[in-house]
Amino acid sequence: MRISGSCHCGNIAFEADGEFDKAMECNCSFCRRRGVLLAFVPRDKLELTTPRENLSTYHFNKEVIAHHFCASCGIAPFSEAVLPNGTEMERSISDAFRKSTLQP
Ligand SMILES: [Zn+2]
Repeated sequence: MRISGSCHCGNIAFEADGEFDKAMECNCSFCRRRGVLLAFVPRDKLELTTPRENLSTYHFNKEVIAHHFCASCGIAPFSEAVLPNGTEMERSISDAFRKSTLQP
């Protein structure tokens, strides 16, 4: 399934290929506050359709996850992380648009 996602104002947009039949509700201090469901795809399955320089990025704790957000509208449509084994990279998608179609 190919999905599209974006921030609210459209400065950040992407398309991603994956099986989006399951979602994860993360209980970390960041995700509890933003209240999103997450789905994961390998890095090469996510394609930014807007310039990468439109991304602002927030790190916290061990700074292993890059939480990208839009400096204009404030929405954080996806994050990037390296798996613990260091060989495979993934991006996690937190796309409120798809929230209603995902089963936690
Ligand atoms: Zn925006």
